[in-house]
Amino acid sequence: MASKATFRFLSHAFFSITTPGGKTIITDPWIEGNPLCPIKLGDIKAADIVLVSHDHFDHAAQAVDIAKKTGAVVVTQPETMNRFKSQLGLADKNAVFGMGMNTGGSAHIAGITVTMTQAFHSSATACPAGYIVKMEDGTTFYHAGDTGIFESMRLLGELYKLDVALLPIGSVFVMDAVQAAAALKLLRPKVAIPMHYKTFPILEQSANRFVELAKKEAPQVKVVVLEPGQEYKLE
Ligand SMILES: [Zn+2]
Repeated sequence: MASKATFRFLSHAFFSITTPGGKTIITDPWIEGNPLCPIKLGDIKAADIVLVSHDHFDHAAQAVDIAKKTGAVVVTQPETMNRFKSQLGLADKNAVFGMGMNTGGSAHIAGITVTMTQAFHSSATACPAGYIVKMEDGTTFYHAGDTGIFESMRLLGELYKLDVALLPIGSVFVMDAVQAAAALKLLRPKVAIPMHYKTFPILEQSANRFVELAKKEAPQVKVVVLEPGQEYKLE
């Protein structure tokens, strides 16, 4: 594998990740009505996997659009997948296992292993989830979805050696800076990228407090703050 994974932040919980094998993983795509999203649907030319953490508009909005135009496989829970199929016309071939998967399960897609984890939040259909993704060269990242902190993040950190953790920090609906900094001690990733802030006026408006607390609580973790549109390539 010549190159390392690249994480492009597209605002909120929306990332486009290029794997060492040249595949594209999209997380929680929300373009239409997203005040901070720097791209349009037409800018997405290719995708292999679309991860949907839960069925709220700010996470699921463009999942089916992207799958239809790129042929990507959507990963989410069965009840959410049912809605995608019956209401939005998602084809079986674009649904993981043809029907969705659930907490604790793994899928192998295009040389990449996707494992669904728990998350504590709400969802219009099914339960909210997070994802642990192991790429072709073993590089592993965690997308927490929308969640509060939970003690078994420690177990996730032990089971999966995390290179990168994508963590919500914006409070109100998800972890605040205090919880997210404490989560770093449980998850022990090498790198953390904050997400789910600034998008709405009621959310925390910057990552500053998280950066400060993370320095204190988990100084060994490299915190990378990305503006929407910016990317980080693993070293
Ligand atoms: Zn959200």
